[in-house]
Amino acid sequence: MAERVVRLVEEDGPDTLPLARGHVLLRMLEVGVCGTDREIAGFAYGSAPPGTDRLVLGHEAVAEAVRTGEGVERVRPGDLVVPTVRRPCHRVECPACRAGRQDFCTTGEFIERGICGAGGFMTEFVVEEERYLVPVPPAVGELGALVEPLSITAKAFAQLDAILARLPWDHGRARGLVLGAGPIGVLTAMGLVARGARTVVFSREPDDDDRAQLVRSIGADYVSSASTDVHGLVRRAGRFDVIIEAVGVPEFAFQTVAALAPNGVFILTGVPAPRPAIGFDAAGLMRDLVLQNQVMLGTVNADRESYEQAARMLERFLVLFPDAVRRVITRRVALDEVPALLREPGGGVKTVIRIAEAGTATRDEGLPAPGRAAAP
Ligand SMILES: [Zn+2]
Ligand SMILES: [Zn+2]
Repeated sequence: MAERVVRLVEEDGPDTLPLARGHVLLRMLEVGVCGTDREIAGFAYGSAPPGTDRLVLGHEAVAEAVRTGEGVERVRPGDLVVPTVRRPCHRVECPACRAGRQDFCTTGEFIERGICGAGGFMTEFVVEEERYLVPVPPAVGELGALVEPLSITAKAFAQLDAILARLPWDHGRARGLVLGAGPIGVLTAMGLVARGARTVVFSREPDDDDRAQLVRSIGADYVSSASTDVHGLVRRAGRFDVIIEAVGVPEFAFQTVAALAPNGVFILTGVPAPRPAIGFDAAGLMRDLVLQNQVMLGTVNADRESYEQAARMLERFLVLFPDAVRRVITRRVALDEVPALLREPGGGVKTVIRIAEAGTATRDEGLPAPGRAAAP
């Protein structure tokens, strides 16, 4: 059996002489760490590229273009970009991937950089096709590692809007509930507030936790599930037109369906690890879904449009809640701290690995030196 270890390795940089047509050499600036990285580092999830025995981690990245190959039209050296994560499957019968919407891939044979089948971004240099790079404005650069997690919210909102289009009247001011106060929960709450929704975050941290305070600072309400159950939540805040789940804990999600209003939309974004079945009031759920026209759906981010929308949302958050949005990134660490970081439980809201400073691309003409990478 292969050795199972997470460590920093020295390896040759990507082959860039010449850069293939349509490809861009990127210097990675910052890469976020999330639960998916921890699961991969615990060998519960993920897979190495075919024919290799190690996977470079990292999928929440912001980078600077260093050099561009022939045929690259929109990206120029010095530009900030966020690389998307999922690459299409190669099956002709997959209508989603053939339409450029690999987020809806039907075969499951897609590849995800840093997760399954291709190396990720916790490394110094990466070569990527221009079509998988999303330009971000310089103002967003310091928060660029949040574009990927925020694209989960952006896609959830796109699904929500598609469903709301079925109600042919003015919806008024929506009431939104977010389950969980992790990075995606907090960013989603910001998104709901920015949309004008009355927003509540329901999560297990106590009422005086830093995250609760962060949530209140953007004009949302915070209710701790440690001291208030779903019935107490409904007594306090009423029922919700949209509930967005960002925890991955099925008990919590299915209990909270009771807080969904008539015609409400419940959106699941968390991915629980496999575990034994749980009991819940399935008859009540089915009755409410039918008699109250409720919708329950899952969504996974991956489409380019959601990344572009996420970059625009971040720009808006920087205007609406400049301090709070910067506080989502609670810690910045160096690449060589990653193996130890992945062994300890996550603290704060979002930890980001700082690999290089922006603005170095145009000063360095050379080939990438042998790059260092965090790989299990
Ligand atoms: Zn992630
Ligand atoms: Zn596909």
